[in-house]
Amino acid sequence: MLIKQKGILFILSGPSGVGKGTVRKALFDKDTALKYSISMTTRPIRPGEVEGVDYFYRTKEAFEAMIEDNQLLEHAKYVGNYYGTPRHYVEEQIEAGHDVFLEIEVQGALQVKENFPEGVFIFLSPPSLEELKNRIISRGTETEQLVMNRLKAAKDEIELMDAYDYVVVNDQVDHAVENVQAIVKSEHCKRERV
Ligand code: 5GP
Repeated sequence: MLIKQKGILFILSGPSGVGKGTVRKALFDKDTALKYSISMTTRPIRPGEVEGVDYFYRTKEAFEAMIEDNQLLEHAKYVGNYYGTPRHYVEEQIEAGHDVFLEIEVQGALQVKENFPEGVFIFLSPPSLEELKNRIISRGTETEQLVMNRLKAAKDEIELMDAYDYVVVNDQVDHAVENVQAIVKSEHCKRERV
């Protein structure tokens, strides 16, 4: 009989524009065993998004009260809004033996590493900086200055790659998802004990 293990915390992170959200959604279309930790944010809800599915949308005051009360595992400010991971859900699911999956930006991932060093940190990387620039430009929403700012931020974020356990190159979404699934499998085999 296998000994009951705690769940594993997986953290998918990487620079803005690399496609973290797309890879995460494609992964969850295939893998139903992972539990997605729904983040809290102060950014306005976008058309098509649903409270409690995409995010928990909160006011700045409510969010700051949660920080104060140590209810967030990590939090970061990104483009003027707060984003954070509710601590309770993550701890409860891990204790119950379920794997939990976070999709967060780099500053938050570094905080999780301090509080949860046993987590598995996956860096989603663009195939090249040139390709990342094309992806940011093709969103069509940024001025040239903003594109340059985001690229500069991405270069700084890419330098933090060494702090991660794994690097997955997002050349094609399907490949990236396959690699993340392989990492999940491998981490389970690592911990398997009878
Ligand atoms: P968006 O506003 O486009 O949904 O997300 C903006 C950025 O915030 C993305 O890079 C996303 O990965 C990141 N993000 C989403 N939830 C969290 C979170 O709970 N904590 C942190 N640190 N970043 C998050």
